[in-house]
Amino acid sequence: MGFYKVKCKKCDEQWEVMVPFTDLEGMICGGRDYYDRPVQWRDTPEGTVENTEGCGNLVERIVELKPFAIAGSSLDTHGVDNVNGYWSPSFGRYFKNKHACYAHAEANGYRAVSQREADDALGGQYNNLQKQDEVGKTYSENLKKAKGDKVEAAAKTFVPQNMQDK
Ligand SMILES: [Zn+2]
Repeated sequence: MGFYKVKCKKCDEQWEVMVPFTDLEGMICGGRDYYDRPVQWRDTPEGTVENTEGCGNLVERIVELKPFAIAGSSLDTHGVDNVNGYWSPSFGRYFKNKHACYAHAEANGYRAVSQREADDALGGQYNNLQKQDEVGKTYSENLKKAKGDKVEAAAKTFVPQNMQDK
């Protein structure tokens, strides 16, 4: 379903019709649209439009590319009409555009970060994991030294060096 501009060569008139694409072929001047409304009309000198009956000639589609907003900015096209959409790898879904993605992120408590911030955060996470790893290793070694005494091993692992008895 869409708006298509068509032209009758015989009447030399153009108009827009709202029909499924497949109905365009075979549409005649004087035909009806998807809602069974007569689609012929022309502008009057008074600035209004008047219905015309059409001549029964086959009409031709006029291909005219123009942006056409089919819904509000919050529209989530789910990839169906993704020609103008924005795929967010972070959210794993399509948004109408990048702005809609950021709006969604903000509304859900996310914050857009720069690549630098993202790198820093990942780096910090990595360092923390590495530290945990080292602590884990130290604890294992201390546990061995303490012959399985977990309290002693923990005390040696987590108490500062200068406070340890040995
Ligand atoms: Zn016609």
